[in-house]
Formats: sequence, C-alpha cells, structure tokens
Amino acid sequence: MGGERTKKFGRGAQECKMCGRKQGLVRRYHIMFCRQCFREWAPKMGFKKMN
Ligand SMILES: [Zn+2]
Repeated sequence: MGGERTKKFGRGAQECKMCGRKQGLVRRYHIMFCRQCFREWAPKMGFKKMN
C-alpha cells in the first residue's frame, strides 16, 4: 500500500543520464542525454546520425 509513484515531468528528473547536465537535453527511447553525450553514445547504441 505504499508503492505510489507519481509521474511528474519538469521537476528535477530531467538531466543527462551520463553527466548530469541539464542543458541541451535529448530524450530518445526513454533515455535522457545531453547533446554531447548523445553525440558520443548514439553511434554506440546503434542510433544513426541524422546529419
Ligand atoms: Zn551528458
């Protein structure tokens, strides 16, 4: 009876999973990366560059 999880966006939980940045976040597939980390990880995770 004590397992309530509220889903609220826009408060604290939005930061890069890798470095903890909160600027230039890119959210893909439930993963939150900043631009820099996404850039490095996208290829490793199988994402293709869009440019
Ligand atoms: Zn990052």
